[in-house]
Amino acid sequence: MKVFAVANQKGGVGKTSVAVNLSATLAHYGQSVLLVDLDPQGNATTGSGIDKNGVERTVYGVLLGEYDLNATKVRTEGGYDVVPANRELAGAEIELIDIERREYRLKEALSLVGGDYTFAVIDCPPALNMLTVNALTAANAVIIPMQCEYYALEGLSDLVGTLRKVKANLNPTIEIEALVRTMYDPRSSLTTQVSDEIKNHFGDKVFDTVIPRNIRIAEAPSYGKPVILHDPASKGALAHFAFARELLAREGIPIEDAA
Ligand code: ADP
Ligand code: MG
Repeated sequence: MKVFAVANQKGGVGKTSVAVNLSATLAHYGQSVLLVDLDPQGNATTGSGIDKNGVERTVYGVLLGEYDLNATKVRTEGGYDVVPANRELAGAEIELIDIERREYRLKEALSLVGGDYTFAVIDCPPALNMLTVNALTAANAVIIPMQCEYYALEGLSDLVGTLRKVKANLNPTIEIEALVRTMYDPRSSLTTQVSDEIKNHFGDKVFDTVIPRNIRIAEAPSYGKPVILHDPASKGALAHFAFARELLAREGIPIEDAA
Protein backbone atom coordinates (compact mmCIF):
# COMPACT_ATOMS: atom_id res chain seq x y z
CA MET A 1 0.00 0.00 0.00
CA LYS A 2 1.30 3.43 -0.93
CA VAL A 3 0.08 6.23 1.33
CA PHE A 4 -0.45 9.78 0.07
CA ALA A 5 -1.04 12.73 2.37
CA VAL A 6 -2.92 15.54 0.63
CA ALA A 7 -1.61 18.56 2.48
CA ASN A 8 -1.41 22.33 2.43
CA GLN A 9 -1.94 24.37 5.57
CA LYS A 10 -3.93 26.88 3.58
CA GLY A 11 -7.69 26.30 3.58
CA GLY A 12 -9.74 26.33 0.40
CA VAL A 13 -6.97 25.34 -2.01
CA GLY A 14 -8.69 22.11 -3.09
CA LYS A 15 -7.22 19.49 -0.74
CA THR A 16 -10.50 17.73 -0.03
CA SER A 17 -11.62 17.98 -3.62
CA VAL A 18 -8.35 16.41 -4.81
CA ALA A 19 -8.42 13.73 -2.08
CA VAL A 20 -12.01 12.65 -2.85
CA ASN A 21 -11.64 12.76 -6.61
CA LEU A 22 -8.25 11.05 -6.63
CA SER A 23 -9.69 8.25 -4.51
CA ALA A 24 -12.59 7.86 -6.95
CA THR A 25 -10.46 7.99 -10.10
CA LEU A 26 -7.89 5.53 -8.74
CA ALA A 27 -10.76 3.19 -7.86
CA HIS A 28 -12.15 3.70 -11.37
CA TYR A 29 -8.79 2.59 -12.76
CA GLY A 30 -8.95 -0.66 -10.83
CA GLN A 31 -7.02 0.28 -7.69
CA SER A 32 -8.25 -0.54 -4.19
CA VAL A 33 -8.30 2.70 -2.26
CA LEU A 34 -8.82 3.82 1.32
CA LEU A 35 -9.58 7.50 1.89
CA VAL A 36 -8.82 8.70 5.42
CA ASP A 37 -10.59 11.89 6.45
CA LEU A 38 -8.29 13.65 8.89
CA ASP A 39 -10.08 16.98 9.04
CA PRO A 40 -12.64 17.68 11.82
CA GLN A 41 -14.72 19.47 9.17
CA GLY A 42 -15.45 16.02 7.73
CA ASN A 43 -15.74 17.34 4.17
CA ALA A 44 -14.14 14.28 2.58
CA THR A 45 -16.67 12.16 4.49
CA THR A 46 -19.76 14.10 3.34
CA GLY A 47 -18.26 14.62 -0.11
CA SER A 48 -18.09 10.82 -0.41
CA GLY A 49 -21.79 10.51 0.41
CA ILE A 50 -21.49 9.57 4.08
CA ASP A 51 -23.47 11.28 6.82
CA LYS A 52 -20.66 12.39 9.13
CA ASN A 53 -22.97 12.80 12.12
CA GLY A 54 -24.61 9.42 11.56
CA VAL A 55 -21.43 7.37 11.82
CA GLU A 56 -20.65 5.67 15.12
CA ARG A 57 -16.93 5.19 14.67
CA THR A 58 -14.53 7.67 13.19
CA VAL A 59 -10.81 8.28 12.75
CA TYR A 60 -10.85 9.97 16.14
CA GLY A 61 -11.41 6.70 18.02
CA VAL A 62 -8.78 5.04 15.85
CA LEU A 63 -6.15 7.65 16.77
CA LEU A 64 -7.00 7.29 20.44
CA GLY A 65 -6.85 3.49 20.25
CA GLU A 66 -10.51 2.88 21.11
CA TYR A 67 -11.01 0.53 18.16
CA ASP A 68 -9.10 -0.39 15.05
CA LEU A 69 -9.34 1.07 11.60
CA ASN A 70 -11.28 -1.88 10.18
CA ALA A 71 -14.14 -1.06 12.55
CA THR A 72 -14.60 2.37 10.98
CA LYS A 73 -14.30 2.00 7.24
CA VAL A 74 -17.36 2.62 5.12
CA ARG A 75 -17.78 1.60 1.48
CA THR A 76 -18.74 4.48 -0.82
CA GLU A 77 -20.58 4.73 -4.10
CA GLY A 78 -17.29 5.83 -5.63
CA GLY A 79 -15.86 2.34 -5.16
CA TYR A 80 -13.38 3.25 -2.43
CA ASP A 81 -13.57 2.96 1.37
CA VAL A 82 -13.60 5.91 3.75
CA VAL A 83 -12.49 6.25 7.33
CA PRO A 84 -14.86 9.05 8.34
CA ALA A 85 -14.27 12.11 10.49
CA ASN A 86 -16.46 14.66 12.19
CA ARG A 87 -16.23 17.41 14.78
CA GLU A 88 -15.10 15.10 17.58
CA LEU A 89 -11.72 14.93 15.84
CA ALA A 90 -11.11 18.54 16.91
CA GLY A 91 -10.44 17.21 20.42
CA ALA A 92 -7.72 14.85 19.26
CA GLU A 93 -5.05 17.52 19.11
CA ILE A 94 -5.18 17.97 22.90
CA GLU A 95 -5.94 14.37 23.81
CA LEU A 96 -2.99 13.07 21.83
CA ILE A 97 -0.58 15.11 23.95
CA ASP A 98 -0.62 12.51 26.72
CA ILE A 99 -0.43 9.55 24.40
CA GLU A 100 2.78 7.65 23.75
CA ARG A 101 4.24 7.83 20.23
CA ARG A 102 1.54 10.31 19.36
CA GLU A 103 2.99 11.15 15.94
CA TYR A 104 2.77 7.49 14.90
CA ARG A 105 -0.89 6.80 15.75
CA LEU A 106 -2.17 6.92 12.18
CA LYS A 107 0.83 5.07 10.75
CA GLU A 108 0.30 2.23 13.22
CA ALA A 109 -3.44 2.15 12.53
CA LEU A 110 -2.84 1.97 8.77
CA SER A 111 -0.32 -0.84 9.09
CA LEU A 112 -3.26 -3.12 9.89
CA VAL A 113 -4.77 -2.67 6.41
CA GLY A 114 -1.56 -2.40 4.39
CA GLY A 115 -2.33 -5.64 2.55
CA ASP A 116 -5.92 -4.68 1.69
CA TYR A 117 -5.37 -1.59 -0.45
CA THR A 118 -3.00 -0.41 -3.16
CA PHE A 119 -3.40 3.20 -2.07
CA ALA A 120 -4.42 5.20 0.96
CA VAL A 121 -5.21 8.89 0.54
CA ILE A 122 -5.23 11.09 3.64
CA ASP A 123 -7.16 14.37 3.53
CA CYS A 124 -5.33 16.74 5.92
CA PRO A 125 -6.80 19.67 7.87
CA PRO A 126 -5.78 23.22 6.94
CA ALA A 127 -3.10 23.44 9.62
CA LEU A 128 0.37 22.13 10.37
CA ASN A 129 -0.83 20.50 13.60
CA MET A 130 -0.50 17.06 15.22
CA LEU A 131 -3.11 15.62 12.83
CA THR A 132 -1.09 16.73 9.82
CA VAL A 133 2.10 15.46 11.48
CA ASN A 134 0.36 12.08 11.89
CA ALA A 135 -0.52 12.13 8.19
CA LEU A 136 3.02 13.06 7.13
CA THR A 137 4.47 10.39 9.41
CA ALA A 138 2.16 7.75 7.93
CA ALA A 139 2.67 8.81 4.31
CA ASN A 140 5.09 7.61 1.68
CA ALA A 141 4.54 10.81 -0.27
CA VAL A 142 2.77 14.16 -0.19
CA ILE A 143 0.40 15.60 -2.75
CA ILE A 144 0.22 19.38 -2.51
CA PRO A 145 -2.78 21.08 -4.10
CA MET A 146 -2.24 24.77 -4.71
CA GLN A 147 -3.85 27.72 -6.37
CA CYS A 148 -1.71 29.82 -8.67
CA GLU A 149 -2.14 33.06 -6.79
CA TYR A 150 0.27 35.68 -5.66
CA TYR A 151 1.32 34.35 -2.25
CA ALA A 152 1.13 30.68 -3.17
CA LEU A 153 4.87 30.00 -3.09
CA GLU A 154 5.39 31.90 0.13
CA GLY A 155 2.61 29.84 1.73
CA LEU A 156 4.39 26.65 0.72
CA SER A 157 7.56 27.45 2.65
CA ASP A 158 5.95 26.54 6.00
CA LEU A 159 4.74 23.24 4.59
CA VAL A 160 8.15 22.49 3.12
CA GLY A 161 9.74 23.36 6.49
CA THR A 162 7.39 20.98 8.31
CA LEU A 163 8.11 18.28 5.74
CA ARG A 164 11.83 18.73 6.32
CA LYS A 165 11.37 18.29 10.08
CA VAL A 166 9.19 15.24 9.65
CA LYS A 167 11.76 13.76 7.30
CA ALA A 168 14.57 14.40 9.77
CA ASN A 169 12.78 13.09 12.86
CA LEU A 170 9.84 10.87 12.04
CA ASN A 171 9.73 9.62 8.48
CA PRO A 172 13.09 9.64 6.64
CA THR A 173 11.73 8.35 3.31
CA ILE A 174 8.85 10.78 2.79
CA GLU A 175 8.94 12.69 -0.48
CA ILE A 176 6.84 15.05 -2.51
CA GLU A 177 4.75 13.11 -5.01
CA ALA A 178 3.00 15.98 -6.75
CA LEU A 179 2.17 19.62 -6.79
CA VAL A 180 -1.21 19.95 -8.39
CA ARG A 181 -2.47 23.26 -9.64
CA THR A 182 -6.14 23.59 -8.75
CA MET A 183 -8.91 26.01 -9.74
CA TYR A 184 -6.67 26.77 -12.66
CA ASP A 185 -7.57 29.63 -14.97
CA PRO A 186 -5.27 29.68 -18.01
CA ARG A 187 -6.64 33.08 -19.11
CA SER A 188 -5.10 34.84 -16.14
CA SER A 189 -1.55 36.06 -16.71
CA LEU A 190 -0.92 35.84 -12.97
CA THR A 191 -1.75 32.14 -13.14
CA THR A 192 0.85 31.49 -15.84
CA GLN A 193 3.43 33.63 -14.07
CA VAL A 194 2.96 31.88 -10.70
CA SER A 195 2.77 28.56 -12.49
CA ASP A 196 6.22 29.16 -14.04
CA GLU A 197 7.64 30.12 -10.64
CA ILE A 198 6.30 26.92 -9.10
CA LYS A 199 7.91 24.90 -11.88
CA ASN A 200 11.24 26.67 -11.40
CA HIS A 201 11.11 25.80 -7.75
CA PHE A 202 9.71 22.27 -7.75
CA GLY A 203 10.65 21.05 -11.24
CA ASP A 204 8.93 17.87 -12.44
CA LYS A 205 7.12 17.41 -9.12
CA VAL A 206 4.63 19.79 -10.70
CA PHE A 207 2.16 17.60 -12.53
CA ASP A 208 1.40 18.45 -16.15
CA THR A 209 -2.31 17.94 -15.48
CA VAL A 210 -4.05 20.97 -14.03
CA ILE A 211 -7.47 20.94 -12.38
CA PRO A 212 -9.53 23.78 -13.89
CA ARG A 213 -11.95 25.93 -11.99
CA ASN A 214 -15.15 24.08 -12.77
CA ILE A 215 -18.66 24.40 -11.41
CA ARG A 216 -19.28 20.63 -11.53
CA ILE A 217 -16.34 20.08 -9.18
CA ALA A 218 -17.69 22.72 -6.81
CA GLU A 219 -21.24 21.34 -6.72
CA ALA A 220 -20.43 17.61 -6.60
CA PRO A 221 -19.91 17.54 -2.77
CA SER A 222 -23.45 18.82 -2.23
CA TYR A 223 -24.64 15.62 -3.96
CA GLY A 224 -22.25 13.54 -1.85
CA LYS A 225 -20.40 12.43 -4.97
CA PRO A 226 -17.00 12.67 -6.58
CA VAL A 227 -17.24 14.73 -9.78
CA ILE A 228 -16.57 11.67 -11.94
CA LEU A 229 -19.90 10.25 -10.76
CA HIS A 230 -21.74 13.57 -10.62
CA ASP A 231 -20.89 14.55 -14.22
CA PRO A 232 -18.36 12.21 -15.81
CA ALA A 233 -18.17 14.21 -19.05
CA SER A 234 -17.50 17.56 -17.39
CA LYS A 235 -14.16 19.34 -17.79
CA GLY A 236 -13.56 18.87 -14.09
CA ALA A 237 -14.12 15.11 -14.26
CA LEU A 238 -11.91 14.76 -17.34
CA ALA A 239 -9.12 16.65 -15.57
CA HIS A 240 -9.37 14.34 -12.57
CA PHE A 241 -9.24 11.25 -14.79
CA ALA A 242 -6.13 12.71 -16.44
CA PHE A 243 -4.56 13.49 -13.08
CA ALA A 244 -4.98 9.90 -11.90
CA ARG A 245 -3.58 8.57 -15.17
CA GLU A 246 -0.55 10.83 -14.84
CA LEU A 247 -0.01 9.65 -11.27
CA LEU A 248 -0.35 5.97 -12.18
CA ALA A 249 2.02 6.43 -15.13
CA ARG A 250 4.59 8.09 -12.86
CA GLU A 251 4.17 5.19 -10.43
CA GLY A 252 4.67 2.72 -13.27
CA ILE A 253 1.26 1.14 -12.70
CA PRO A 254 -0.60 -0.03 -15.81
CA ILE A 255 -4.15 1.25 -16.12
CA GLU A 256 -7.17 -1.01 -16.01
CA ASP A 257 -10.21 0.92 -17.06
CA ALA A 258 -13.12 -0.33 -14.96
CA ALA A 259 -15.70 1.39 -17.14
P1 ADP B 1 -9.60 22.54 1.11
O1 ADP B 1 -9.87 21.13 1.45
O2 ADP B 1 -8.16 22.80 0.75
O3 ADP B 1 -10.08 23.50 2.15
P2 ADP B 1 -11.71 22.24 -0.83
O4 ADP B 1 -11.37 21.05 -1.65
O5 ADP B 1 -12.74 22.07 0.23
O6 ADP B 1 -10.39 22.89 -0.24
O7 ADP B 1 -12.14 23.39 -1.84
C1 ADP B 1 -12.58 24.66 -1.37
C2 ADP B 1 -13.86 25.04 -2.13
O8 ADP B 1 -13.59 25.18 -3.51
C3 ADP B 1 -14.95 23.99 -2.02
O9 ADP B 1 -16.18 24.63 -1.97
C4 ADP B 1 -14.79 23.19 -3.29
O10 ADP B 1 -16.00 22.57 -3.67
C5 ADP B 1 -14.35 24.24 -4.27
N1 ADP B 1 -13.46 23.71 -5.30
C6 ADP B 1 -12.41 22.85 -5.13
N2 ADP B 1 -11.81 22.58 -6.30
C7 ADP B 1 -12.49 23.29 -7.25
C8 ADP B 1 -12.36 23.44 -8.67
N3 ADP B 1 -11.40 22.83 -9.35
N4 ADP B 1 -13.23 24.25 -9.30
C9 ADP B 1 -14.21 24.89 -8.61
N5 ADP B 1 -14.39 24.79 -7.30
C10 ADP B 1 -13.55 24.01 -6.61
MG1 MG C 1 -10.59 20.25 3.20
